[in-house]
Amino acid sequence: MAEEKETISIKLTNIRHPFDAASDLMVLVKNVLGAEDVDIVHIRILRRSIDSRQERIDLVYTLLIELAAPGNALKKILARSDVETCTEPQETAPAAITGLTARPVIIGCGPAGLFAALTLIERGVQPILIERGARMAQRVRDVDEFWKSGTLDAESNVFFGEGGAGTFSDGKLTTRIKSPLKDKVLRELVRFGAPEEILYSNKPHLGTDRIRRVISLVVEHLQQAGVEFMFNTRVLDIQVQDGRISGVQAGEQFIAAETVFLATGHSARDIYYLLEQREAQLEAKGFAMGLRIEHPQEFINRQQWGKWSGAAGLGAADYFFSFKDSRTGRGVYTFCMCPGGFVIACSSRQGELVTNGMSAYQRDSSWANAAVVVTVGPDDFGSQQPLAGIALQRQLEEKAFISGNGNFMIPAQAARDFVMGAGGATAISASSCLPGAAPADLGNLLPDFLHAPLKRALIHFDKKMPGFIDAGTLFGVESRTSSPVRIKRDPYNFHAVGVSGLIPIGEGSGYAGGIMSCAVDGIRAALAFDTA
Ligand SMILES: Cc1cc2nc3c(=O)[nH]c(=O)nc-3n(C[C@H](O)[C@H](O)[C@H](O)COP(=O)(O)OP(=O)(O)OC[C@H]3O[C@@H](n4cnc5c(N)ncnc54)[C@H](O)[C@@H]3O)c2cc1C
Repeated sequence: MAEEKETISIKLTNIRHPFDAASDLMVLVKNVLGAEDVDIVHIRILRRSIDSRQERIDLVYTLLIELAAPGNALKKILARSDVETCTEPQETAPAAITGLTARPVIIGCGPAGLFAALTLIERGVQPILIERGARMAQRVRDVDEFWKSGTLDAESNVFFGEGGAGTFSDGKLTTRIKSPLKDKVLRELVRFGAPEEILYSNKPHLGTDRIRRVISLVVEHLQQAGVEFMFNTRVLDIQVQDGRISGVQAGEQFIAAETVFLATGHSARDIYYLLEQREAQLEAKGFAMGLRIEHPQEFINRQQWGKWSGAAGLGAADYFFSFKDSRTGRGVYTFCMCPGGFVIACSSRQGELVTNGMSAYQRDSSWANAAVVVTVGPDDFGSQQPLAGIALQRQLEEKAFISGNGNFMIPAQAARDFVMGAGGATAISASSCLPGAAPADLGNLLPDFLHAPLKRALIHFDKKMPGFIDAGTLFGVESRTSSPVRIKRDPYNFHAVGVSGLIPIGEGSGYAGGIMSCAVDGIRAALAFDTA
């Protein structure tokens, strides 16, 4: 009589196969486990990455496998060093919120505000969400017009509007934070139309095209669930009485509120000045500034994939470099890489120009760009004021605007000329940049504490990837990597120190940065929300 089989779930790590070979995970797993009397019931990919460090390029999987096997075979499987028992995590619904006397208000329709709203809905509460910028379709038109004619709408642009700052981005969903809520964010994005592969890719991304569609569906869902959206409505004031929030002035309308989630991002500089007046406690924090570098994507592919460059299935290659500048002690690193993307001009104020990058989901432009940024701290800000970092950003952004002909062309220079200190302004023959490049001496745009470490870092990166300098064009300035300000908040209930009931979340709070970590921050704050 055949031995009875027991069903269990295991996690199997480091399963590899050549990227260009046809893969049947069922066959692969059976071969790896080597047990003929094992029935594979279900396989779910937990992680998939590409390993290109060897001669051969491999896809590497971590799998959650439900299998049935007789006791002896199971024993052998469980004794393997690459196997551990594992169960699917069960999601529990968060506790309902009771005893509210007024609807909570959320200011800002970026990842932090939207995920706070999704969580409040799960908890049975229908917030009011106020957003200064426009709905998606109008916003896309406004940004296109900006890149076409240099006409900026200060309320509807790359930073402001439905979806927040990451809407015109590469939609990278990677983060260094460790939180089980990351999986929840990914599952929610898939629920609203994101591709399933973001659940297991080690470098998930959505691209600006997909992220726009997903955000629109999230907003539609929230509207149907009872969230009241006020678009094209800027919060002008936050009313505080005896250290407690009592309401917000939203355009012409005053809205009484006991709880306000402040998810305004770090480009809403007016909000920081307002908070200073309302006696919230603010502190200057370190961030990073520098330039953006662009290469032909084909150059990066060749460097990273070698003979496999251009092979179907590998997509556009990326890179990450870091450098510790021993002369100044500063870190310099590449950041926010957009393979197959575009260098873009961004601004939310006339007279200020910021550089950033975006890509479509397919990452199929002929160009690869990444920020190359240097760490800066309050000691560089030239003042002890909490908002001094903003003043430094502005100073550089105003210089960049002037250098970009005063019409949002992006100041640009061949990386070799920047490193050689060649000065001058040689024409840039080709680039992806929107709206276009204005030849400039970028060394003149940067203070020496950025300029010198950047040059040394580029020389270092060129040793890691020969040709990195010669094939590169630099654009400036990359000044808004994360917030230069922190709004101090209580670590347990997230209320701002000095203004009870005000809950700063996301990038603008200074406690999060990037789409994923801001979304997680929004969820955490909404879960911590308590009427008691
Ligand atoms: C071009 C670009 C590319 C990027 N690429 C990536 C990437 O690939 N991956 C990644 O992780 N991160 C990326 N980022 C960063 C990421 O977008 C931000 O970290 C993230 O959007 C911050 O989320 P948030 O919700 O805290 O704030 P935001 O997304 O900045 O949203 C804040 C919202 O608040 C609104 N608001 C501000 N003030 C007011 C007011 N007074 N009244 C009403 N509404 C107000 C704004 O209009 C805005 O919509 C990119 C950013 C940019 C600009």
